[in-house]
Amino acid sequence: MYDLHLHTNNSDGMDSWQTVLQKAEEAKLTLISITDHDNCDAYFQMEKEGAHRFFSGKILTGIELQAYFNGISIEILGYDFDIYKMRELLQGLYLPMDELNQIVLEKTCQKLTSIGIILPANVIQNYDSTKHYYSMDYLHAQMRKFSANRTYIPDEESWEKDNIFFRRHIANPNSPFYIREDDVVPPAEKIIDIIHTAGGKAVLPHVYQYDENSEMILHGMLDKLDGVECFYPSFTAAQSEYLLELCKKNGLLITGGSDYHGGKRPNTIGCFKLP
Ligand SMILES: [Zn+2]
Repeated sequence: MYDLHLHTNNSDGMDSWQTVLQKAEEAKLTLISITDHDNCDAYFQMEKEGAHRFFSGKILTGIELQAYFNGISIEILGYDFDIYKMRELLQGLYLPMDELNQIVLEKTCQKLTSIGIILPANVIQNYDSTKHYYSMDYLHAQMRKFSANRTYIPDEESWEKDNIFFRRHIANPNSPFYIREDDVVPPAEKIIDIIHTAGGKAVLPHVYQYDENSEMILHGMLDKLDGVECFYPSFTAAQSEYLLELCKKNGLLITGGSDYHGGKRPNTIGCFKLP
């Protein structure tokens, strides 16, 4: 059993890397990768403290990088790279999280209010980045404080869940809620180039989360990628099968991961058998 998509509190996960490794050990996994957002700090911490005290299997270096493709903010996984080179290449590429959240928060508030959505006074000033890694889940909760706002949201799921609202509307060029982020997110080609320069492989994660843009992203990115995440908790068997066939036909790597975050998104660690 393996799991190549795990998050720690070095990005938006709840658990420390030690806890994640312990949980992977308890689940009897043989191969894992910690893929924090936009940093590989966990690997430097492991190098210092020693990972094998917590996990006896193999650990592949990993990272999940934000990238822009055809007007859409997506993620690209990098695997098996040199962590020193990666850290060097990422320097200055992304804005500091606080600054990024502030920019996105202001843009999103402006868009929401222009559509007619009511937000609490001081909504921007009251944002606390220590409580919300991404400003989107904070803003979504603020929006839900006013039941009148429900009428402006096109679908129930987007009203209920911040991540669905983000994918389906905020990050979707076909939605009136769409917000451009190409000023703060680097292009996908550049991100793939960085992964390759650091000696790694580029893999497209959770493609069906991109909702109506999934097929466009998958087929548009295919010739740039080294692999596709074919197994993911929310994928149907038919979706996984389709991706598997696509990978085999195009000679691409097949991966799977739980996207474990702990806490709010407690996808169980390690639900995948090695193909
Ligand atoms: Zn992830």
